[in-house]
Amino acid sequence: MSNLSLILPDGNTLEIEQGQPYAEAVRQISEGLLRNALAVTIDGVHHPLDEAATVGGNMHIITKNSDEGLETLRHSTAHLLAWAVQDLFPGVKFAFGPSIEGGFYYDFDREEPFSQEELAKIEKRMLELAKNKEGIKRETVSHDEAREMFKDQPYKLAQIEDLKGEELSIYRMGEFTDFCEGPHIPDTKDLKAFKLTSVSAAHWVKDPNAPMLQRIYGTAFFKKKDLTAHLEMLEEAKKRDHRKLGRELDLFGITEDAGPGLSLWYPRGDLLREQVINYWKEVHRKRGYKTVTTPHISQADLWVTSGHMEFYKDDMYIFNQDDK
Ligand SMILES: [Zn+2]
Repeated sequence: MSNLSLILPDGNTLEIEQGQPYAEAVRQISEGLLRNALAVTIDGVHHPLDEAATVGGNMHIITKNSDEGLETLRHSTAHLLAWAVQDLFPGVKFAFGPSIEGGFYYDFDREEPFSQEELAKIEKRMLELAKNKEGIKRETVSHDEAREMFKDQPYKLAQIEDLKGEELSIYRMGEFTDFCEGPHIPDTKDLKAFKLTSVSAAHWVKDPNAPMLQRIYGTAFFKKKDLTAHLEMLEEAKKRDHRKLGRELDLFGITEDAGPGLSLWYPRGDLLREQVINYWKEVHRKRGYKTVTTPHISQADLWVTSGHMEFYKDDMYIFNQDDK
């Protein structure tokens, strides 16, 4: 067997035999690191720790105690969600299931939205399925093989068509197989502190003419106490929601005459707004800043120079000066 070289971020190189699991390379660094490791990335391609090594290159280790590790856990929970949905609602079509800030979601093609009772049922099934400590395994397939495997899944087929490259990666978790680049956690044993939080309707790849999909949102943590703290924080945030407080304290309102999202400040709200602005200015001046006031609208060229146009173009109102 020939040896494979794995280059670490600090420039040091490790050697493992071809066919040994990538975990072996992590173990060479330390047993503690291996306990904390979730997956490895070799030259930008994610691999499970127990995968028999076939390639060497620049190695990055994804660990539990990092943002990337938490995202990996949450995305893996999205796979578990899809597995439970496949199990409970055969025939549902699958779109995407990424991790997002604060959690994850998965989009399903199904006529009716998922009810709260169904969410509870799915969550229960997820816990049952995860208990068996199913490995999350990666395989590579050709475009033809992928098309055959996902022939009943139109959204996966569309995704396959968009991808170049000879090899496509699929991940198996129990009876659920997803077309995915990873990374994932090694097995389902760490999938126990999660919660399905809400549902909404979403368009396929944000195309307003595309069919509506049913999105299930959730969140996940490595530890139950972190999940509990997060859910408590969400409850506390709800009490402080500006839409709730604005109404209850008579601070501001939104009318159709002015337009959606455009707030009209009432006397109490305007007083509060003024104080916040004064405080903000005072703090800045104390620290040596000077303030200026600029127009709310300007020639587009100015926003090109400032860089706003490049980043916020989709959220800016752009109109021709001569337009009525
Ligand atoms: Zn995945």
